[in-house]
Amino acid sequence: MGNSFIIRFREENTMKLTEKFPTLSFARDADEFIRKWSGNADIVAQLRERRIYRVEIVPLFVSGAGILFGDDGNFLVWLNDFYPPEEQAYSLGHEIGHTFHFDLSKTPPRSSYPRQAQDPVVESFCKEFSLLWVAQNSENKIARRISNQAKLLVQHSL
Ligand SMILES: [Zn+2]
Repeated sequence: MGNSFIIRFREENTMKLTEKFPTLSFARDADEFIRKWSGNADIVAQLRERRIYRVEIVPLFVSGAGILFGDDGNFLVWLNDFYPPEEQAYSLGHEIGHTFHFDLSKTPPRSSYPRQAQDPVVESFCKEFSLLWVAQNSENKIARRISNQAKLLVQHSL
């Protein structure tokens, strides 16, 4: 009994987002992103690829985090200063998840999914993406990056 539980748990954890969210067309891009960055925990480079150019730790009263457009037409992520960096790591992963329902070839990125953020399926997708992303990059590494805010304020030169 214990064994079968462990096997099932492992299978669920290695399931691809495309398998978990067959109705979300952008899940494929997210799986590809995870696969591509496996073995490379360069957090800033990953954020930049998703066009997140700034991460700010700010007081937020209603949520753990938020994603919005910066003045430069790229994404800006707000993380709630109330939470410790280890929890902010998951919030950051969640907000990266949201970038997958945007067309990043447009400036500012254009939403490619009509119901987007409020949709519980999308929210669930972002949560699952976050778990995969944090597991791959290590909670500690991301937390250290977040603690050192200056290094998350990515410069714009490409
Ligand atoms: Zn969300």
